[in-house]
Amino acid sequence: MATDQPELAVSAELVKLPVDSKSQKRSKSPSAYRKSCDLCHTPNDVLVRCQIDETCSWHFVCTKKCWKDVSGGMVDGDSNHPYYRYGGMWKNKHAGVSAKKPKPKK
Ligand SMILES: [Zn+2]
Repeated sequence: MATDQPELAVSAELVKLPVDSKSQKRSKSPSAYRKSCDLCHTPNDVLVRCQIDETCSWHFVCTKKCWKDVSGGMVDGDSNHPYYRYGGMWKNKHAGVSAKKPKPKK
């Protein structure tokens, strides 16, 4: 008899929930939020946002091999990588990673 009502209420609630980061923080594992490197297509928790060629479009490259390839290992690029431009770090907030160097203990 009244058993339909709770179900209806639940589905209505689901529909009107806004899609934002707060409502997404359960059920998925942090790795589901990883972004893939544009060059080697490996999912990563930390990527460098940068321009790497004459198209001046932004790419996300992993901080390992690919970033060194496109930048020469310099944050601002070197003379061998004239198109490289650093645009910041991307971090997977769900993984709790940091792009900063760990602070030394006092
Ligand atoms: Zn890569």
